[in-house]
Amino acid sequence: MTDKVKLTITINKNLLAIVKERVKSKGLSLSRIIENFLEFYVNPYVYCFKCGEKFFVDKAEVCPKCGWLKCVNCGACRCELDDETAAAVFHMRRVYEDLLMGRIK
Ligand SMILES: [Zn+2]
Ligand SMILES: [Zn+2]
Repeated sequence: MTDKVKLTITINKNLLAIVKERVKSKGLSLSRIIENFLEFYVNPYVYCFKCGEKFFVDKAEVCPKCGWLKCVNCGACRCELDDETAAAVFHMRRVYEDLLMGRIK
């Protein structure tokens, strides 16, 4: 008994060739990678910059003062960072926003 379904998608031909090669060399499957990403897409998570705990974005509150997510575990947000550290964290988070094609929350 499986709950898997077939999915037909359309992507760039050259990209697909490169992806297939990469996936094969890592012993993974394209289905596995797509499913992994889609799970992240619907339920994204981050690691706290302070305590290192992983938390799901949906469970986290946005700090009304700084607009960042507050860590579910320790409550840390941008308010406790100096400008230089905040900039570093901010730019690293942009990877997520590029992947998710929008803001995390
Ligand atoms: Zn934390
Ligand atoms: Zn804050």
